[in-house]
Amino acid sequence: MSLSIKKEYDVVVVGAGPGGSVAARFAAESGASVLFLERDRETGIPVRCAEGVSSPGLDQFIDIDERWIANEIYSARFITPDGNTLDMKSHVKGYILERRIFDTALCDLASQKGATMLTRANVTHAKRTPDGLVEVAYTHVGTPKTVKCKIIIGADGIESRVGRWFGIKTNLSLTDVSSAIQYTINNIEIDPHRLEFHFGTNIAPGGYLWIFPKSANTANIGIGITGNFASEKPAKAYLDEFISKRFENPSINYTVFAGIPVARTLSEIVTDNVMLVGDAARQVNPITGGGIKQAMIAGRLAGKLASEAVKTGNYSTKFLSKYPSEWDKVLGSKHSFIHAMKERVIYASDERLNKISRACAHIPPEKMTTLELFKQVVKGDPKLVLDMSKAFLADKFTT
Ligand SMILES: Cc1cc2nc3c(=O)[nH]c(=O)nc-3n(C[C@H](O)[C@H](O)[C@H](O)COP(=O)(O)OP(=O)(O)OC[C@H]3O[C@@H](n4cnc5c(N)ncnc54)[C@H](O)[C@@H]3O)c2cc1C
Repeated sequence: MSLSIKKEYDVVVVGAGPGGSVAARFAAESGASVLFLERDRETGIPVRCAEGVSSPGLDQFIDIDERWIANEIYSARFITPDGNTLDMKSHVKGYILERRIFDTALCDLASQKGATMLTRANVTHAKRTPDGLVEVAYTHVGTPKTVKCKIIIGADGIESRVGRWFGIKTNLSLTDVSSAIQYTINNIEIDPHRLEFHFGTNIAPGGYLWIFPKSANTANIGIGITGNFASEKPAKAYLDEFISKRFENPSINYTVFAGIPVARTLSEIVTDNVMLVGDAARQVNPITGGGIKQAMIAGRLAGKLASEAVKTGNYSTKFLSKYPSEWDKVLGSKHSFIHAMKERVIYASDERLNKISRACAHIPPEKMTTLELFKQVVKGDPKLVLDMSKAFLADKFTT
């Protein structure tokens, strides 16, 4: 018996993470024929994620299902370089996911809308053909195959190659890639419903260290530091030091090394017949490194537009450019601002972070919001406004 994979689809999506599966789903729901290809034996594994996401980020895409919710989060603690703490009560519910189950649930939704998924399908190359279509080469369980499509959506994560095959520049500078290592650790005692973020040049230079609890005894504990610092002392050394000081007898049951693109969105995320989504398009929040919600939002925009392009028979860069315009309105411009703040303001110096925490010390956790934090920061450090303006302008005028 052979699988009923057709020779041609309207849309082929490369990668079945949150970005790819949501793009596949919305393209199929809007009427396109869709094939989505995943190189691993199942999506979501290995888990390269701390698995934190807010309820508004999820609710718009999928009904909450306890099969893939590990834990609920109600607050966050920020620990500054001088050891001071800032507590923030979350105004929306947060979740720690089980990505290995969650990613599959998103793929199931795409299939229910008519998209065909294939795992162990490694896309090896793609190119435009003279008939105005794209030929996608992949191996399925080791056997070489090709399939044609009108639009290819590259949702192939941080190591994305789809963009490069079509001439899009996807390279990242050392300061825009966070080198991350994370352990899932058991046999520890933590507040099960509070996230922790630790900052400081001795803890996590150019980044932060996180504790995302999966229960009162288990957590994803990881660190992300930018490439320029990672070459001096590896992220693992910082993380191991922290864990051995904080916990008595930790037991590691999962270890993952990965990169996070803490950059601005690529200046080019579409070209003729091609769209990029999620980490492949560098659509991660440049400070937090969060990219699940971001990839799903981009996937929805790209999937819907791909189907519209198929209906009108127009797969040109010009037509597809509605996607980056929409992305900029929803999150892209915000990410540019956050990116500008990242190095020059947030990770600028331990002293600045200490100052921020002192300025906010009087705010009770339930009143602490990002806006309140921002107001206090500006009040306590007028030079910051100038630095922010400079950073933003510099970022705007840097390609
Ligand atoms: C350590 C760490 C912690 C993180 N923590 C959080 C967090 O707490 N919250 C949050 O929101 N975000 C977090 N992120 C970021 C988040 O994991 C990503 O932004 C998100 O997974 C991006 O989704 P995506 O669909 O773009 O890419 P991915 O989830 O990376 O999916 C890409 C898929 O493409 C497949 N693929 C790649 N190449 C090919 C190919 N050639 N052929 C076929 N398939 C291919 C891969 O196998 C993969 O399944 C974290 C990241 C890291 C590394």
